[in-house]
Amino acid sequence: MKTKLKLTLAFVAIFIFGCSVNAQTYTASTKSSIPIEMLLPQGKSKALILSFDDGNIADRHLVKLMNEYGLIGTFHLNSNKLGTKDYLTKEEIKNLYKGHEVSGHSANHPSLPSLSKVDVIYEVLEDRRELERLISYPVRGMSYPFGNTSDLVIEAISGLGIEYARTVGDTYNFNMPTEFLKWQPSIHLFGKTNYIPNDTANDRKELGQFYQLTSEFLNSKSLALFYVWGHSWEYEGPGNKWAEVEKFFKMISNNPEIYYTTQIDLVDYINAFNNLRFSVDKTMVTNPASITVYVKMDGKAFAIEAGSTTNLKQSE
Ligand SMILES: [Zn+2]
Repeated sequence: MKTKLKLTLAFVAIFIFGCSVNAQTYTASTKSSIPIEMLLPQGKSKALILSFDDGNIADRHLVKLMNEYGLIGTFHLNSNKLGTKDYLTKEEIKNLYKGHEVSGHSANHPSLPSLSKVDVIYEVLEDRRELERLISYPVRGMSYPFGNTSDLVIEAISGLGIEYARTVGDTYNFNMPTEFLKWQPSIHLFGKTNYIPNDTANDRKELGQFYQLTSEFLNSKSLALFYVWGHSWEYEGPGNKWAEVEKFFKMISNNPEIYYTTQIDLVDYINAFNNLRFSVDKTMVTNPASITVYVKMDGKAFAIEAGSTTNLKQSE
């Protein structure tokens, strides 16, 4: 009888132990198969970048409007053009763009693919050097003059401290960038209304398309980056669009769902997300960066604080 009881207990023990091992394994493998998704700072899912090229004197009015609406911009400047006709002075840019990002656009605004490699390097480095002297912080990105680039240009700028570079090929979508040196924006802010002036039918079409995309962004439920680019001088002249620019700023500003960012801050954030170190079963994660990173897993949001290791299981 005693032997029989011992055997029965042993079977029960094996059964319970076996079940618990199986249950653990099942939980862990299920968790591992759940993808980790990036959220934006403060756990938001929408980001807005406003990016303007050339450093025209009309930037004075543009920046004033943006400041009134609490909007942040990235401004791409040609250092050798500053101080010449219709361009801002070298002396004013540090104060004017305070709170915004100053970024490169080449020293003289040539089409970079038409230059020799040594001249591409000069245009990019000279622009960085002079802008940095004027604004007193490192310039870490640029937009391509005329939006033009090529594999050779990208190869030339890759070792020059340029961490992102924007083209003008509008995507009309809200995708996050996959290649920082071939960064395509979502849409041009009223660009075509300037190139075809005094054409009300064309204006209506362009503005309609722009506001349609803006409203799709505002209603978006998934991770979305609305990257709007342009030139302040496009809103001047006979087809004056400043009222439309202000209307757009009103629509897009003071929205708690939106992360308002410079281009370089988003680059830093995406890099910090990509540098998260997860354990194999994804229950632990280390964030070696100096900024808090937000992730979503299985419908739950987690804040992974800067320089910390977070237990995702305990946070649930
Ligand atoms: Zn330009």
